[in-house]
Amino acid sequence: MKKFILTFSVGLIGFIAVAQVPKAIPQSQVEAHVRFLASDALKGRDTGSPELNIAAQYIASYFQGYGLQTLDSTDGYFQPVSLFKESTLSSATLTFQDEEFQLVEDMLVLSGDSLTEEVPVVFVNYGMPDDLEGKELEGKIAVALLGRPGDTNPQSAFFASAEKQKQITEMGGVALVELYRSAQIPWSLLVRYLNTEQMKVGNATSDEELPVVWLNDGQSTLKSLFEENSGEMASLSIGSKVRQPVDTKNVVGILEGTDPDLKDEHVVLSAHYDHVGINPQATGSEDSIYNGARDNALGTTALLSAAKYLSENPPRRSVLFLAFTAEEKGLLGSQYYVQNPLVPMEWVVFNLNTDGAGYNDTTKVTVIGLERTSAEEAIYLASLSASLDAIMDPVPEQNLYDRSDNVNFAKLGVPAVTFAPGATDFGPEIMKYYHQVTDEAESLSFNYVEKYCEAFTKAAENIANSESAPVWKEGDKYEEAGKQLYGR
Ligand SMILES: [Zn+2]
Repeated sequence: MKKFILTFSVGLIGFIAVAQVPKAIPQSQVEAHVRFLASDALKGRDTGSPELNIAAQYIASYFQGYGLQTLDSTDGYFQPVSLFKESTLSSATLTFQDEEFQLVEDMLVLSGDSLTEEVPVVFVNYGMPDDLEGKELEGKIAVALLGRPGDTNPQSAFFASAEKQKQITEMGGVALVELYRSAQIPWSLLVRYLNTEQMKVGNATSDEELPVVWLNDGQSTLKSLFEENSGEMASLSIGSKVRQPVDTKNVVGILEGTDPDLKDEHVVLSAHYDHVGINPQATGSEDSIYNGARDNALGTTALLSAAKYLSENPPRRSVLFLAFTAEEKGLLGSQYYVQNPLVPMEWVVFNLNTDGAGYNDTTKVTVIGLERTSAEEAIYLASLSASLDAIMDPVPEQNLYDRSDNVNFAKLGVPAVTFAPGATDFGPEIMKYYHQVTDEAESLSFNYVEKYCEAFTKAAENIANSESAPVWKEGDKYEEAGKQLYGR
């Protein structure tokens, strides 16, 4: 693990940040928040559960108590989030040439309407815009290779799929079939992950989209089958799914900045407050509750701590506090938020998110994306003022940056990082608690939790008071999106 190296000189401002310990949020209060949010009574804070709504009420009551304001377009401190739950498919088959592909065994349906069609297929290579140019897809099934050329990482394949789906819909296609071949995630694991009830952003009665089917090409035979027989007829039948609306919300409050020239700039502080609920397979006296103390009662507590401290010490920029629902269902609360922002996205100069799986080093905080924005120094010094060393993501191969709510802001160009408890690897000490029933308040060091909350709070304060707003480092993947968002 490469340690973060202090590459800047600690000047006068740095000295002040280190010397001035923030007004501490009393440990007893920090502990009370974590213990309540991670209590058995909240049954693991599953999205859609009444217990998660109790957690929302709890957060809102503290936002109110700390003097945060509500926004005009919200229901008090709540932003209702429109989500629906979708059952697994009853049936699906695809027949082509002499092959018959069956649901689960050979194929998965990622999205889309039920249908029964007998139409020609067109092989479109990767289905990139270049591949699609000039193709006649009206009333046909497009068959494509997974992902993009040279990138079959399943996570990026999802994003690529959505882009192909959009373009093929515009071209009048009836379905998109992609040939799944990935060394990273075998088919059986993909099935376990995807062939379950799913939650999605949207209205349960809204129109469906173009079906997207992934076919298991583990034997590497399907490319030639479809390429050589492009233009031949296939029959595709997709059964129905049951959709139900989910009652859930983001919790949001705002603190106005004190500087007339800077208060239109907003720093978003965020933490997801949901977790994964209970284990229905637990038997007898076995613990069934995923308390989610680390993930993310701790982060929610850091958010509450920052709300308290900053409302007593208001910074120059405005601060928007967001507690997200449905992170564990696929970052859905933050997805909904950025699609339905409460202040214009171009006014949001930074997203400081807090989330984490666990920690193995109580002298550190791990900041996912630390080195990617110019807020690096402000965060490093803030951590130091809480006697913690801020380190970079020790496991970039885990794609943690893309696995928490910060990424929904980053994709739109907002410089964003995720503050996480001190982890120097993603090893046994982390896995012992990560999405396990053992992730309980009793197993935390509250001494550390208090410091963590201080570091987060101080980082927020430094960023909200800094002379200029943070920007992406040159050459970052999201730098261009940032330039477009802010028009500079
Ligand atoms: Zn989390």
